[in-house]
Amino acid sequence: MKFNYCPICGRKLEIKDSWDEGGVPYCPVDDIMYFDTPKPCIIVAIINKDKILLLKQSYIFKDSKVLLSGYVTNGETVEETVHREVLEESGLKIKNLKYLGSEYLSSKEIIMLTFMAEYDGGELRKSSEVEGVNWTNIEDALCEMNQDKIGKNIVKKVLKEIGYIGDKAYRCECDIASD
Ligand SMILES: [Zn+2]
Repeated sequence: MKFNYCPICGRKLEIKDSWDEGGVPYCPVDDIMYFDTPKPCIIVAIINKDKILLLKQSYIFKDSKVLLSGYVTNGETVEETVHREVLEESGLKIKNLKYLGSEYLSSKEIIMLTFMAEYDGGELRKSSEVEGVNWTNIEDALCEMNQDKIGKNIVKKVLKEIGYIGDKAYRCECDIASD
């Protein structure tokens, strides 16, 4: 997000030269540079044997299931975000968290930090923020997530990570509506 005014004092920001970043909006009163940074967000594929946890969140995609996701809160590590969001949205505990890389969502200025994890206990319990949360056979995941491009990339990485062989999991990949 590009800042024009100081979020603390409301003053119009000046442009100050930062030796490695070029001109950066700056408030001389609060002595803060407001860098154009993205919002960090986590997204995690939770695996339980041959199942994967999928959510229904109509505000994200009307006709598609998604992986569990959430914003990183200031003051916590990204790993803490993953554990917190999983517990809040599903009631589950996870283990063996593994980073799978990042994806940038330019429309929302979000940097998505992607993970996989294994189920480590707890009863599935839906939070009020979530319309539905279910264990889905991993071979059906790509079909159920037809609109969620980033989520599907993660599932494909997970299929590689778990050593999946076969074609069944990929059967819906030819009829995606391109965007
Ligand atoms: Zn200020």
